[in-house]
Amino acid sequence: MKQKITQRSAWDRILAKLNKRSLWMLHYCTGCGAIELPPTMTARFDMERFGIVPMVTPRQADILLITGYLSIKTLKRIILSYEQMQAPKWVVGFGSCTINGGMYWNSYTTIKRLDMYLPVEIYIAGCMPRPEAIIQSFDTLINRIDKGVANSWKDYYTNYDFYRKNQEKVFGEIETYNDIKSDAEKFGIK
Ligand code: SF4
Repeated sequence: MKQKITQRSAWDRILAKLNKRSLWMLHYCTGCGAIELPPTMTARFDMERFGIVPMVTPRQADILLITGYLSIKTLKRIILSYEQMQAPKWVVGFGSCTINGGMYWNSYTTIKRLDMYLPVEIYIAGCMPRPEAIIQSFDTLINRIDKGVANSWKDYYTNYDFYRKNQEKVFGEIETYNDIKSDAEKFGIK
């Protein structure tokens, strides 16, 4: 999808430079692909050289990495975690299972497309994606943040009814931690 590049203030550009080199990642290891994360984090591929470090709480995380298939029960926890994260925030779908259900395409317990429920900024294809692919995707994310086009998180506010409808279709009514409408106003999103 072609992204519209809008005029940014000097302050926005400075913030983007700072953001792109300080990305704290909540890795929600739902599927088998998570096994490729340790080599990505440790000395051989060393993702910290890009300023990406693991973070254990959603409130301090910038990236929500979903590493594989998602059961309906897990999706509920993912949504509650995502809504606690401070914007700007980016969802990364890791592995084929997040894109189209992968090898669980026919399972009644898993969801098939993560972007029906949360705004996904980047998908990493593969079953399972190797550390090289993960690093390349992070590099793409960093470049998008720098250019000011990594704006998928805004979509959660502007199209909240769409996401909410899909979420409730799979597990009924859920509580939210945030007032989505007041958050949208806070970020100047209409
Ligand atoms: S994409 Fe493959 S490796 Fe990843 S969770 Fe699904 S089955 Fe496992």
